Amino acid sequence: MHKIGIDLGGTKIESVLLDDDNSIIRKSRVLTEKQKGYNFILDSIVSQIKEMSFESERLKSMRNLKEETSIGIGINGTFLKKTGTVTHSSTDCIIGSNLKYDLESKLGQKISMENDANCFAMAEANLGSGQGFTSVFGVIMGTGVGAGIVINGKLFSGKLGVAGEWGHHSINPNGKKCYCGNIGCVDTYISGPSLELRWHELTGEQIPLESILNFSSNVNFKQWKSEFLENFAVGLSNVINIIDPDVIILGGGVSNIPFLYNEGKEAVYRKIVGHNMETPIISNKLGDSSGVIGAALLN
Ligand SMILES: [Zn+2]
Repeated sequence: MHKIGIDLGGTKIESVLLDDDNSIIRKSRVLTEKQKGYNFILDSIVSQIKEMSFESERLKSMRNLKEETSIGIGINGTFLKKTGTVTHSSTDCIIGSNLKYDLESKLGQKISMENDANCFAMAEANLGSGQGFTSVFGVIMGTGVGAGIVINGKLFSGKLGVAGEWGHHSINPNGKKCYCGNIGCVDTYISGPSLELRWHELTGEQIPLESILNFSSNVNFKQWKSEFLENFAVGLSNVINIIDPDVIILGGGVSNIPFLYNEGKEAVYRKIVGHNMETPIISNKLGDSSGVIGAALLN
């Protein structure tokens, strides 16, 4: 079956058409231009889907195939599983909308929708670093923190659709207030902006994460790094102690930090019941393409 995937991000909307064997037939990318509002974004997504559908129909007619082409979309936000209403997103104008319903009305076809972390996990589990593993916990550590659980190639999103919302489980009940309303979420400690904020609190300097890593001999760096590793370890050891996945795959800008894969991994192992030291914690394979590919695989 041909599959169309859409990745709605804060700055760009990507689309992809996958062949029966999940190879990429066609890709496209436009700017989100969120300042132009919800209807503009809706039309922009519809026109990308139509471009992909047109190509899909052309190829299918050459092979005399009649089956429908599936459509999946990943969004950078959260929504209510029951109604589809978007409850949070950095693309502000989609909050409160029912994007899934509106797209289905315009396209006359059912679509699947998930948050971008779930799409990341789907892509990596099926076509990336998670191939060959039965259960995959895919983590995004970027502007925000999120995760997805994939078992036997299928997404496990739970009764309410919040399974894998790792970024918003609290690791400190007396911690910082998170934008989600909860206190001490993982997101408030190990997202890119949170790590930069902590460096600012310690040193008074406002510099990007990549630059902080250049200060490795600085005394403040030692404290910053040890807090970072502790929070990373508490967060991921909770996951292992509860669902014990076969592999943990890291993605997002923060996942490019090399010490997460040795010192970070060891810090996690020290907090696992029985000090089990087997769960691989590895980097992603598909990079920026994981969101759009995962969206296509939702069906
Ligand atoms: Zn939160």
